[in-house]
Amino acid sequence: MKRTPANTKVAPSRANAQLAYVEVGSSELTRDINRDIVLEYVRAMQPISRVDVARASGLQPSTVSSIVERLLEERWIRESSMVKTARGRRPTLLSLNDDMVFLVADIRPNQAIAAVVDLSGRFLERQIVPVCAHPETTIQSIASVMRAFQARHTDKTFQGVGVSVPGRVDLSTDEMVFAPNLQWQAFPMRARLHALLGLEVQLENDATASLLAELWFGRIDGVRNAVLVTVSEGIGAAILADGRLIAGRDGLAGEFGHISIDPDGPECGCGGKGCWEVFASTTAALRTYRELQPSGAAVSFVQLIALAMDEDPSARAALTQQARAIGQGLHLLNAIMSPDLILLAGDVSLFYDVYRDVIEAECRAGAMDGVGPRFVSVGDGDMSRLRGAAAVVLQRHSGYYRAAHMRADKRSPTTSFAR
Ligand SMILES: [Zn+2]
Repeated sequence: MKRTPANTKVAPSRANAQLAYVEVGSSELTRDINRDIVLEYVRAMQPISRVDVARASGLQPSTVSSIVERLLEERWIRESSMVKTARGRRPTLLSLNDDMVFLVADIRPNQAIAAVVDLSGRFLERQIVPVCAHPETTIQSIASVMRAFQARHTDKTFQGVGVSVPGRVDLSTDEMVFAPNLQWQAFPMRARLHALLGLEVQLENDATASLLAELWFGRIDGVRNAVLVTVSEGIGAAILADGRLIAGRDGLAGEFGHISIDPDGPECGCGGKGCWEVFASTTAALRTYRELQPSGAAVSFVQLIALAMDEDPSARAALTQQARAIGQGLHLLNAIMSPDLILLAGDVSLFYDVYRDVIEAECRAGAMDGVGPRFVSVGDGDMSRLRGAAAVVLQRHSGYYRAAHMRADKRSPTTSFAR
């Protein structure tokens, strides 16, 4: 069965041609977009002939041919040898070049995972790296693991480095800003990794990385309005609206987790009080459990899930309270964005069966259309963020990156956001 590429929802031959997160602005941009389209069709329908790319995309065969030549030269794609059959010569087929790989890392408050991933989203290697309070030490450990990967895969071409971070990334500096759960003060992570590895480095917010992974390698083909919410130690969100990823001013869009829902509530890592994440994160569930079991031993989130499965009443109460808070927040988010789809990612999605009924009922309660959005649990935790980190590097060559950076370039220096 043929798949439609994730970010080419509508064939460009149609009158209302629109690409996800691409704004058509100039002939130069159009040429780049055509390149994205060809790469997308090869990725989604490989192995595929030039003729079929032209047919599926609606692009002129001559346009497809010249773009394919460029992609072959740049080694993004490769062609199989010509096959002779009884009915004559069959055209050569194009596939992504699996020898082209990326170094990726997913940095979280307590640990990082470094990995090697190819253009199709397959992992060649993964390794856990400790995260400590000193960003320089942590970044050096990640870089040394990545150098070891490179030394073990000398047959591969390392195209770049993608990093998923638990914070927002400033569009003008490409550095991490606002990471309340990772108390690293201003640290030039991208510049340091670039200096240590000698490769281009892209950082991306973890929720946006997970949503990119779904767009590039995932299950949301044809969806133009979606919100991905990660629920782990904190809450993050990424927004796909009318087919575009929304970055917002300074890349800070999507911080639903830090909307205060109770000004008298507990303190949050962002400096505020009673933020949604203070009630809906896994940290919140653990806090509730401690309040219900003040003399009990400290438990991890996974142990809390196990206790709930063993019918421990305090664990069940803590998770139910968290699920209710998640659903209530999603209800507000649904009222604002009206997405077709809410994707749940992060630690909660690993145990979504425990949460599903309460979250979906709370979100749908009083939904304006009486139905509410569809829910999908991403359910593969760090794998999704690591794939997302690879998609971030892929996107560097595509519309999302260009659109976001055109906006950043256009911004006048006097409008920078005061932090
Ligand atoms: Zn907060």
